[in-house]
Amino acid sequence: MKKWLETVEPLIYESRIKVPYTWSVGEIGSRFLIELRDRKKIFGTRCSKCDRVYLPPRKTCGQCFSILHEWIEVGPQGTLMTYTTVHYESPVMPMKPPFAYGIILLDKASTGLVHLLGEVDLEEIRSRMRVEPVFKDLRTGDIMDIRYFRPVK
Ligand SMILES: [Zn+2]
Repeated sequence: MKKWLETVEPLIYESRIKVPYTWSVGEIGSRFLIELRDRKKIFGTRCSKCDRVYLPPRKTCGQCFSILHEWIEVGPQGTLMTYTTVHYESPVMPMKPPFAYGIILLDKASTGLVHLLGEVDLEEIRSRMRVEPVFKDLRTGDIMDIRYFRPVK
């Protein structure tokens, strides 16, 4: 004899749980975001042992586990390594679609930064294109103080 639940299609209720929270970005994150907010500068941390420059900055090298003490200003220009375009709308999207974002390797950095692309026709975006940041006028200490990266003219 089949159990009742095996005779029907189980119903699934889909929803979202909204959980407000406060999170300290710590010493490394604070310096990174304050430089963005106050000076429109982008800083990474450099490993003196293996010469990698992390962006966003990290406290520990992911390759050799050294503690990172050296701050390096990177960019502001960089190279778009890869990208995607977004065509569907969702409440969590940072802007109204269609839009694009990608992984940007800023000059002097060893790791890529994921960020939005702007001031560009989506059909004209290409990997390896040179890009530069556009900062918001009113900055709050958030990665979105960089509005987006646009092609270098
Ligand atoms: Zn290292």
